[in-house]
Amino acid sequence: MRRRIVAGNWKMNGSKDLSEKLVGDVRSEAVSLDNGVEVVIIPPAIYIGDVVKQAQGAVSVGVQNVGRWQSGAYTGEISPGMAKDSGCRYVLVGHSERRQLFGESDEMVAEKVSLVVASGLNAIVCVGETLEERESGQAEAVVAGQVRTGLSSVSQGEWQSIVVAYEPVWAIGTGKTATSDDAQAMHAAIRSVLKDMGAPAEEISLLYGGSVKSDNAAALFSEPDVDGGLIGGASLVAKEFMSICRSFP
Ligand code: PEP
Repeated sequence: MRRRIVAGNWKMNGSKDLSEKLVGDVRSEAVSLDNGVEVVIIPPAIYIGDVVKQAQGAVSVGVQNVGRWQSGAYTGEISPGMAKDSGCRYVLVGHSERRQLFGESDEMVAEKVSLVVASGLNAIVCVGETLEERESGQAEAVVAGQVRTGLSSVSQGEWQSIVVAYEPVWAIGTGKTATSDDAQAMHAAIRSVLKDMGAPAEEISLLYGGSVKSDNAAALFSEPDVDGGLIGGASLVAKEFMSICRSFP
């Protein structure tokens, strides 16, 4: 069975105090979840140590970005090895904000994925089309290209370390969510690209992201190819985030 995952991307939000309170609240509910979902918190990198300590193993921790190198003269960057050393299990790669604001290309995504996997971490690789691309009928082609290039460095034994998050750019932080039918159609298309690439597509978890809330999560998570969610804004409120974590059929 594919892993069910709900990951909360705090983006550049939070503080030491919030980390303590929010992670404590999430942890105390996560321990009693009985639906097999893995809860992941992805805080700003500077709080990872605090979050790992507070999570006490009941919640997994991830980092929002890593550099393309394992060490060296790259001021301001952190490496996948450092993320692992600090207690992370997941790395977000190619989030649309990284692509749009920091010029991250599919080729850079592929380089990062390769290092992340080699470091023994799981990569949550984000893909998704803009509104313009969707309206011009290119959504599937764009996403397929991102999947093919972004995952081009993954070799046969490494696919178990890959999670793909479909996040339509027009749905991130906008309050507009893809319909569950549209999400399902894209997830099925992604799975078929993965199959074509020789990956064990049926075993790879595909997450949906883009304005997921407690009132739309159940419809999305009931689709056969939606294995969980990548949650931004709603992951900053413990009650809302945990309600999403409980929204599996
Ligand atoms: C995200 O940051 O990946 C995201 C999906 O944000 P939001 O849930 O706020 O749309």
